[in-house]
Parts: sequence; structure tokens; C-alpha cells
Amino acid sequence: MNWKTPQKILIVDDAAINRQVLGDLFRAEHTVILAKSGEQALDRAGQHLPDVILLDVVMPEMDGYEVLRRLRADPRTAAIAVIFITGLDAPEDEAYGLTMGASDYIAKPFNIQVVKARVNVHLRLARQQRLLETLANVDGLTEIPNRRHFDERFADEFDRAEREGSTLSLALCDIDFFKQYNDRVGHAGGDRMLRDVARTLVAVCRPEDVVARYGGEEFALLMPATEASEARRVADEVRRAIAELLTESDGEAGTGVTISIGGATMEPGRRESLEELLAAADGELYRSKDAGRDRVSWRGIDRATASAHAEASAS
Ligand code: GH3
Ligand code: MG
Ligand code: MG
Repeated sequence: MNWKTPQKILIVDDAAINRQVLGDLFRAEHTVILAKSGEQALDRAGQHLPDVILLDVVMPEMDGYEVLRRLRADPRTAAIAVIFITGLDAPEDEAYGLTMGASDYIAKPFNIQVVKARVNVHLRLARQQRLLETLANVDGLTEIPNRRHFDERFADEFDRAEREGSTLSLALCDIDFFKQYNDRVGHAGGDRMLRDVARTLVAVCRPEDVVARYGGEEFALLMPATEASEARRVADEVRRAIAELLTESDGEAGTGVTISIGGATMEPGRRESLEELLAAADGELYRSKDAGRDRVSWRGIDRATASAHAEASAS
């Protein structure tokens, strides 16, 4: 997202003339979405996740207060800025709307310049909010999710797996002898390698997996609803892709960089905590390191037996 990305405004009003006037006011600079009822507003808010919602209070069937209450109850739409536009202009009405969680309150008949200025304030806040969220959750060097984001997702997915009785697989990946690589190519070259490794992990993993930079040269890979054997296969694909990585600077000679991986799967009915699952994956990672690196070790499946070297000497 950058400063030029158009923002989305959802305009909710049962009167066609208001939808038209307000829509025309913003269409040149922003993406405008229209809704003529509360029901439609909820639908479109969930579908488009607008930055700001201009919400009429008095509408037949579902009024604006009820729409706001339901938006706030849905985690996807809970944080969207809502501005009431209404003919109810008594101070009590305004206070009620604001205590319900509206961001602003504009009385009808409205002055279009005032509406525009106020909406722009909230669009700017929404943009800053998103930027902060991105900065807080993305690793600056590799541009993949950071540790903080991973911890949050891990906790969510762990709770979900427990609740739904599904499997959850976790792999921890640590680049081998990265200190030496840094010494050889310099810190900037090491940084480039970290970016290449991150890109490779994202490319190999499936869209539903969570890939994150877990620490300096460590990456974590969370695979929801994935059995141990399948997760182990993905991990080995990661290991292989890193070992085969070619960079411009290292050329055909290859980078010599490899990665060690340790993993564990929480099976349904297995009573273990998030910390125990994490410790199990970490223990497997150490086994991979001890057994010679460039290999995968997965709890319950193997103890760091599969490696490029083992495969090479077997064939
Ligand atoms: P092992 O196979 O046992 O994991 O050996 P290693 O050298 O990879 O392990 P160690 O933990 O001793 O060293 C990790 C190195 O990773 C040291 C540090 O300089 C490097 N590193 C960590 N973060 C960054 C980074 O952001 N950029 C660069 N260039 N290097 C980093
Ligand atoms: Mg390390
Ligand atoms: Mg390392």
C-alpha cells in the first residue's frame, strides 16, 4: 500500500438522491461503493472492507444504529470508521451515535464541502492506521511477517485447532553456518541471502501457510490443518529449494547455503500446550543440526535422517 492507493468509501442511504450527491463528491479520487439498505450495507462492508462508511441513521427495516452495532460485532469490520449522516440533529442523537462508536456525526441538510473535509480526515486516519499495522507486523528486511505477527497467528491457529480438533503443524528453520556466509560475502550479502531465503519459503509454501522471520536467520512455518507426513514433505521441499538456490553473485557455483528444519504436529486429541509444541519443533531442529545440518527432522516420523547428502550417497 502506498500514499496513492485509492481508498474505499461505502455510502449507505435509502434516498437515491443522497447516494448520488455523495457518490459524485468522492468518485474522482476514491472508490465509491453504494448501498440502499442496512442489509446491503453489511453485505458490502464485509465484501469490500471500505476505509470509511458514510451511514444514514433513519432507514426502513434496519436503521443506522443497528448497522453500526453489527459492524462492530464482526471482527473484520469492527475497526472501520463510520460517519453518521442524519436528519436527527438533536444533541442527544449526536451523543448517542458517538457513544455507540461512530467516528463522526454530520447533520442533514449537509454542506458538501464539510462532508468532504470530514471524510478526508477519517480517510487519512485510516491510512495511517493501516500503515502502523503493516509496520508492526512485517519484517523490514525480508518483507514477510515478523515474529510478533507469527506469535499472534500461532496463538489463533492453536486455539482453533484445539477447538475444532484439527491438526496443526509447525516447522522451525535455521540457516546453517550463516555466520560463515556473512564472513565470506559481507553483511550486505548476508542480508540479500536472507531476502532470497524468505522469498523461497513463501514460493514453496501453500497460500494457507504462515511464513515468518522468527529471528535473525531463523524462519517459522505454520501449516494449519496439515498432517505430519504432508507437513514434513513441505518442509523437505523448503530444504531442497534452499540448497538449490542460485543467486546472481554466487552464480552457477551455488551459494553453499543450506537450512536445517525441525517440525512437530499437534494431532487431534493430543493434549499439549502451545509451548510444548514449539519446544518439540525446536528440539527437532537441534537434532537436525546435530545430525549434520541440511536436513529435516519431524517428531514421530524421523530423527533427521533425510538429507541431501544421504540422498546423494544412496543413489
Ligand atoms: P548454525 O548452523 O549452528 O545455525 O550456525 P550459524 O552460524 O548459522 O549460527 P549462529 O547463531 O552462530 O549465527 C547466526 C548468524 O546470523 C550470526 C549473525 O551475524 C547472522 N545474522 C542474524 N541476523 C542477521 C541479519 O539480519 N543480517 C545478516 N547479514 N546476518 C544476520
Ligand atoms: Mg540461529
Ligand atoms: Mg544458523
